[in-house]
Amino acid sequence: KQRNGHEPEFLQAVEEVAETVIPYIVEHDIYYGKNILLRMVEPERVVTFRVCWVDDSGEIQVNRGYRIQMNSAIGPYKGGLRFHPTVNMSILKFLAFEQVFKNSLTTLPMGGGKGGSDFDPKGKSDNEIMRFCHSFMSELFRHIGHNTDIPAGDIGVGAREIGFLFGMYKKISNGFTGVLTGKGMSWGGSLIRPEATGYGNVYFAQKMLETKGDSFENKKVVISGSGNVAQYAAEKVIQLGGKVLTLSDSSGYIYDKDGIDTDKLAFVMQLKNEKRGRISEYLETYPNAEFVKGKTPWEVKCDIALPCATQNELNKADAKALLSNGCICVSEGANMPSTKEAIAEFHKAKILFAPGKASNAGGVATSGLEMTQNSLRFNWTRDEVDEKLKDIMSNIHDSCIKFGKDEDGYIDYVKGANIAGFVKVADAMLAQGVV
Ligand code: NDP
Repeated sequence: KQRNGHEPEFLQAVEEVAETVIPYIVEHDIYYGKNILLRMVEPERVVTFRVCWVDDSGEIQVNRGYRIQMNSAIGPYKGGLRFHPTVNMSILKFLAFEQVFKNSLTTLPMGGGKGGSDFDPKGKSDNEIMRFCHSFMSELFRHIGHNTDIPAGDIGVGAREIGFLFGMYKKISNGFTGVLTGKGMSWGGSLIRPEATGYGNVYFAQKMLETKGDSFENKKVVISGSGNVAQYAAEKVIQLGGKVLTLSDSSGYIYDKDGIDTDKLAFVMQLKNEKRGRISEYLETYPNAEFVKGKTPWEVKCDIALPCATQNELNKADAKALLSNGCICVSEGANMPSTKEAIAEFHKAKILFAPGKASNAGGVATSGLEMTQNSLRFNWTRDEVDEKLKDIMSNIHDSCIKFGKDEDGYIDYVKGANIAGFVKVADAMLAQGVV
């Protein structure tokens, strides 16, 4: 706390892990007295750098770039890049810390990292985005590599940005390697990677529902966000027979009481991915829906909630509203979307609750599968990747049960994910000595 007191999101993420992992360390001699958690909270390396670029009016702009290389005990650093004006050290360290546990849970050999910039892609032309990405990579390239650190996308970094970043890396390193994941299909990408985080979250929720003999069939589902994760979570919910009632962006949420079906979702994908418009524009084509400005969708009555936008978007009052409306399952697509107080409410009510580090791990897991395909110089089919993704989500669910089942039978997925993620990384760190 003394060293990181000015980093609230990082402290929040560490506290959540410490609360469940410290009692486990105390009970297990092999971890006790080794300062293992103290070592895990200190990044192995932090890089910050200047990113200068020229906007369309000819003015020189300056942003700050970052890469946090958090832990490489079980594999090269792996984790996304976020471009958003709120990006700072606290946000990226919380994301990098969570990533270490998440990547461990996937069972694939990936360490944890995260990076990005305070650059705001909103309202920028394609050429401005390209110039920014090229400038960003002209410094980042010296810190990453396909055996060292393999970044991917996150908020504000999708297929377009990964393309520009990869192009510059390839040019200045003079090598075509799998240094980034989320690549296009014709230049080293994996089928199902765009869908993986959203699909994986729904597969995980399905596993949780099965423990109660339940499913998505005819369930009312409330989703926040309308980006990559939210879009494909919605697609999978629809395929499994659920009814998606909401989507959102930072300006508010849309509520379509008739349900957002496949055609309406295709409209949203085009609106968000091609036109780069606002979610409120949904009403211009579907006037029966409502747009609720400046609010999150947790006040809408639902059976299942999938927060898929950003950190701390679901607080205690939201949790109470969801519970009083009969919500039985919350599965996080975003990273740390629920506050600590909200999670306490879900646990008190003993509903199904999955933390992002378990339920959204499908994205990075499929990035791991993309790395394997790049190394093999071979592509698996859509069904092959989807099957592997389902298996990985099912294995993560099993790990959560193994370490998170309480005496009364309630599954504390937070505890389960934290301990399962910790054990693998801690064992590797102990084996490698004090380095
Ligand atoms: P996108 O940039 O594709 O979409 C983000 C969505 O969240 C947009 O609808 C955006 O609205 C909304 N949003 C972002 N910031 C805020 C905010 N401060 N308040 C309200 N809404 C906000 O990102 P992704 O879908 O990729 O990521 C969403 C979440 O999922 C993040 O927490 C990310 O870390 C996590 N995640 C993503 C993975 C991936 O594979 N992409 C993997 C694992 C986790 P607007 O357009 O108005 O900004």
